[in-house]
Amino acid sequence: MSKVKLKIVCVLYDDPVDGYPPKYARSDIPKITKYPGGQTTPSPDSIDFEPGELLGCTSGELGLRKFLEERGHTFVVTTDKDGSDSVFEKELADADVVISQPFWPAYLTAERIAKAPKLKLAITAGIGSDHVDLQAAIDNDITVTEVTYSNSISVSEHVVMMILALVRNYIPSYNWVIKGGWNIADCVSRSYDVEGMNVGTVAAGRIGLAVLRRLKPFDVKLHYFDIHRLPAEVEKELNLTFHDSVESMVKVCDVVTINAPLHPKTEHLFDEEMISKMKRGAYLVNTARGKICDRNAVAKALESGQLAGYAGDVWFPQPAPKDHPWRTMPNHGMTPHTSGTSLSAQARYAAGVREILECWFDEKPIRDEYLIVKGGKLAGTGAHSYSEGDATSGSEEAAKFKTGS
Ligand code: NDP
Repeated sequence: MSKVKLKIVCVLYDDPVDGYPPKYARSDIPKITKYPGGQTTPSPDSIDFEPGELLGCTSGELGLRKFLEERGHTFVVTTDKDGSDSVFEKELADADVVISQPFWPAYLTAERIAKAPKLKLAITAGIGSDHVDLQAAIDNDITVTEVTYSNSISVSEHVVMMILALVRNYIPSYNWVIKGGWNIADCVSRSYDVEGMNVGTVAAGRIGLAVLRRLKPFDVKLHYFDIHRLPAEVEKELNLTFHDSVESMVKVCDVVTINAPLHPKTEHLFDEEMISKMKRGAYLVNTARGKICDRNAVAKALESGQLAGYAGDVWFPQPAPKDHPWRTMPNHGMTPHTSGTSLSAQARYAAGVREILECWFDEKPIRDEYLIVKGGKLAGTGAHSYSEGDATSGSEEAAKFKTGS
C-alpha cells in the first residue's frame, strides 16, 4: 500500500432541501452482480455504505470519507463549483485527485487544469467525461476514468419512460388532475400509441442497445445509427434497420433517442438543419448530453410543431440558467439531470469510484473499461467511444445559476 498522502477534491450536488438523510421509500434494492454482456459490477475490497442510501449529494460523500481518512488522505467535498471564486477552483490548486459527476458537473477546463499542477487523476462518478477537457487531460498526462456501465440500464429505463410520457401525453394529463380537472379531450388531443411507430437510436452502445431491447415488446419498428455496426445476430434478434447516417435514420423515424457521448464530433449534431430533416411531429428524447442538441433549434422546432415533443434530463450548461429556453418551451418533458443517479445507480457508481481509488492508491491496474484517458492518449472505453478535443467550451455560463439569473 502506498504511503503517499493525497488530496482528493470531490464535487457533488446539494443535499435534499428537507435535510439529510431523507426518509427512504424502500428498505432495500436488488443486488446486481453483472451487467448485460457479462461485465461485473464494481468490486472494491469493501464499502462503508448501505446500497440504497443517498450517496451522490454532499452529505452522502459517495460513502468515501472513512476509507480516505483511514488511509491518511485529505478529502474535500463541495457543491460550489462555478466561477473563479468557487471552493472547487480554490481547492484545485493542490489537488491530486478530482472526483466529479455529470449531474452537477465540475467543469475541468484547460484553464482549470493549468491551475492544478498536481492533478493526476480525474474520476467521473457515473458515465460521461465530456465535462473534462479531454484534450487538456491528454496534454497534461492526467488519467481520466469513469464507472462504465454503472448507470447505463438506469438511463435506458428513463428513455423508455420519456418516450411513453411524450407520445401518450402523460405530463399534461397528470397536470389536469392536479388542477382539479377531468378534461379528457384536452388530455388526449395530443395522445398516441407507440405501437407501430418507427423508433431510432443515435448510437447503440450500452444505453442505446438496452433501449432497443426494452422497446422491442412494444411492437415498434426499430432503427439505429452507430459508427460500428452491431453483430448480425443482434440485428436479427431485434429486427433492426441499420442506417449509415443520422440523416437517413431521422427521415423515417417517429421517435428518435440520442445515446451517444458528447465529443467534438457529436456537439450540436441536432441543429436546425438536422431537425428539419426529421419527420414533422417527431419526438426527440435526449438523455445523452444537452450540447448534442442546439438549444435554440430545439425550442424553435417545438414552437413550430416540427417536433411534437422533446424530453430528456441533460442540459448545457448544468445547472441550467433560469432563463434557459428548455425550461419554458412548449411540449417538453425535461427534468434536472437525474436518470443516471437513481439510488440504485448511486450504489454502483460509488462502489466503482472506490474501486478506482483502491487501484490508484495501491498501484494496481484500473479496469480497462473504466479508462477514458491514460498515458497521454485516449484509452480503454475512451479510445472506443470518444474523440480527442474539448467539449467544455461555454461551461462558464453555469455560474449564472449561482447568481440567480
Ligand atoms: P457507450 O460507450 O456504451 O456507448 C456509446 C456509443 O456511442 C458507442 O456505441 C459509440 O460507438 C457511439 N458513438 C460515439 N460517437 C458516435 C457518433 N458520432 N455517432 C454515433 N454513435 C457514436 O456509452 P453508454 O451507452 O453507457 O452512454 C452513452 C452516453 O450517455 C454517455 O457518454 C453519456 O454522455 C450519456 N449518459 C447519460 C447519463 C444520464 O444520467 N443522463 C448517464 C450515463 C450516460 P462505437 O463504440 O461503436 O464507436
